[in-house]
Amino acid sequence: MNAEIIAVGSELLTPERSDTNSLWLTAQLNELGVEVTQKSILGDDRDRLSAAIAEALQRVPLLILTGGLGPTEDDITREAVAQALHRRLLFSQEICDEIKARFAGAGRQMADINKRQAFVIEGAEKLSNPNGTAPGLWIDLPGGMLMLLPGPPREMVPMFGDTCRPKLVARLPQMAIRKRFFRVAGMGESDLDALIAPVYKPYLNPVTTILAAEGDVQIHLRARSSTPDEAEALVEELGAKILETLGNRVYSQNGDPLETVVGHMLRDRDATVAVAESCTGGMLGARITDVPGSSAWFLGGFQVYAPEMKARLLGLDQKTLDEHGAVSEVVAKAMADSARDRTGATYALSITGEAGPESQTPGIDPGVVWIGLASPKGVEAKMFRFFSGRNRVRKMAVQTALNLLRF
Ligand code: ATP
Ligand code: MG
Repeated sequence: MNAEIIAVGSELLTPERSDTNSLWLTAQLNELGVEVTQKSILGDDRDRLSAAIAEALQRVPLLILTGGLGPTEDDITREAVAQALHRRLLFSQEICDEIKARFAGAGRQMADINKRQAFVIEGAEKLSNPNGTAPGLWIDLPGGMLMLLPGPPREMVPMFGDTCRPKLVARLPQMAIRKRFFRVAGMGESDLDALIAPVYKPYLNPVTTILAAEGDVQIHLRARSSTPDEAEALVEELGAKILETLGNRVYSQNGDPLETVVGHMLRDRDATVAVAESCTGGMLGARITDVPGSSAWFLGGFQVYAPEMKARLLGLDQKTLDEHGAVSEVVAKAMADSARDRTGATYALSITGEAGPESQTPGIDPGVVWIGLASPKGVEAKMFRFFSGRNRVRKMAVQTALNLLRF
């Protein structure tokens, strides 16, 4: 089933407020196998809103509105829906009494304008609101549903979760959902998409979503079908094709982050790791130790930010540093080698680079990072060019270094 959401409120069209309700609702609807095909934000204008409601109901069988149920003149959602459906607004003494009682409970008298909230659209069902005065409304239409929910998230969330969700589930065709989740390292979002788009594009079900953060790309597959077995078969088929295409670029299928996957790999091999970090200033060690139990595989490291610390703490030759520069293959290798030697770890990673924004090293562009790995097989180093600012360069360097341990 497809749905649309309309967030009502002129304040949501200003830079000060954003519509978070629709994000939360979208997650809820997706869970139930409902796709949100369009979202809109409308100001407090009755005619415009009424037209938007009528149009949305031409397109989808489920429309959710949030906001504009309050007592003031600018709260026009009820009126706009009544207008769009050509239905009357009827005064409900019961709702009015409830609102009065709520005010009385707080030792106050209900203001006259609150009576506006006691109007119900003909044929609508009241959704009680324990967290505010405005009740929500639910309207079953021939071939569709319409919900009017309050704007404040603390009222909207429980109203949807406690009342609307079960009602919606009862009206949805039985739908099973099965998901797959892959995490990929070692390639950017656009490269990844170029590689797997030909694989997933022919499939409308499962739906494929790609999300990217620094050096970490996530692929989400979500299949829907009338039976769990069918949904599983659908997600399994596309999942297997994507896995085949990506091979060992996929590092996790259960959501574990890279530091956990790498840590557990080391633990299973009875191996240990140490680090020597320059431009990342300890971030790599921090990532590795984010994992509970990391003392089983992480020995420690060297924060050698200043060039003289590379000499003093790691014993690098000052002449080598002067000759090659701190950001170089030779230094990256020497850092890894020495960190491995001095700690006795199975592996040692080193990072030395120019994080930017301005280059501190003549001839080295911001974003150039050398990453070294010393292992029982010897020592190697690779140069990478990362983009988009200091923060991202450093995070990319850490992610890339961690990923080297998987191979
Ligand atoms: P009230 O009785 O509080 O007036 P209402 O249903 O009329 O309830 P609005 O007046 O539209 O709701 O919004 C009240 C407040 O709720 C807004 O100022 C805003 O802070 C918050 N709000 C409204 N809509 C949204 C939204 N879509 N996302 C996040 N917050 C919202
Ligand atoms: Mg309001």
